[in-house]
Amino acid sequence: MQEARFYETYYFCNVIRNILHDQFSFLRNLNDFYGDDAHFYLLEPFEKYSTFHRFIEFIVDEIYYENASNVDLEVRKKTYNNFSGIPAALEDIKPDKLPIELALTFHQIEYDCFDSYLISNGKKFVMCDEDDIHEYMSELRYSGAYEKLIDQTVKEIFHILFQNRALMLRFNDMVSSAIEIRVDDPVPEEIEHLFKRPGILERKSIPKWVKRAVFYRDRGCCVLCDKDLSGMVNLQNLENYDHMVPLARHGLNDVSNIQLLCRECNQKKLAGRAITSSKYQSWYLYDET
Ligand SMILES: [Zn+2]
Repeated sequence: MQEARFYETYYFCNVIRNILHDQFSFLRNLNDFYGDDAHFYLLEPFEKYSTFHRFIEFIVDEIYYENASNVDLEVRKKTYNNFSGIPAALEDIKPDKLPIELALTFHQIEYDCFDSYLISNGKKFVMCDEDDIHEYMSELRYSGAYEKLIDQTVKEIFHILFQNRALMLRFNDMVSSAIEIRVDDPVPEEIEHLFKRPGILERKSIPKWVKRAVFYRDRGCCVLCDKDLSGMVNLQNLENYDHMVPLARHGLNDVSNIQLLCRECNQKKLAGRAITSSKYQSWYLYDET
């Protein structure tokens, strides 16, 4: 079992949800994720660190760097000087601790703190500048601490957002549109084999771990008609693992693009139509005593 610590996890979830709901406002940033040739590197079929994980990572990384850039060093230095004679107060306010350090400490990830980084470079906090913060961020990356933080954060966010099928559909729709727009771009040789024809990915068999994750998320029921597909009640009801955004519409072979449908709904699902539901099973029935 993983241990969820939920440090700013819901904040990140909300940012990601807002970006996917208002892609136009974030277009310039999103272009770094799927623009130019970047989309070609999102297409590997059914990776456990899925395309959606990579999107979460992209956003979380941006936020951590933005937070580092937004540190108001002048204000912090002033506070540091004001309380320099009262170590207990400094310990409380932590003006010399960067936001990234608070996150690392919370997750109990070992790292070298900014203060000792400065000392090892012959500097003190009151002398440091923005460049020191950026160099320190690179140092954290280099040491592996940042990677551990990202890994923990991304997986917690994925755990929460994966349950939101409508959001998964939105994400997959965004990536498939990026593929569609660039359908005529020459495909790098190393990923040619992933395509059936330009812009359309080859169908791949769905791995067991994907089926299990989707089956449990969707509670063994067809997400469109609620039919029980567990095989415990009715052996005639057969489960189908459906690409929410169909492959024929530039959909991905990604766990975030799969949902549980019964055979009838799967057959009825109009060819080429991307559809899901936001139904969920509550933990208990509210209208029963
Ligand atoms: Zn159904």
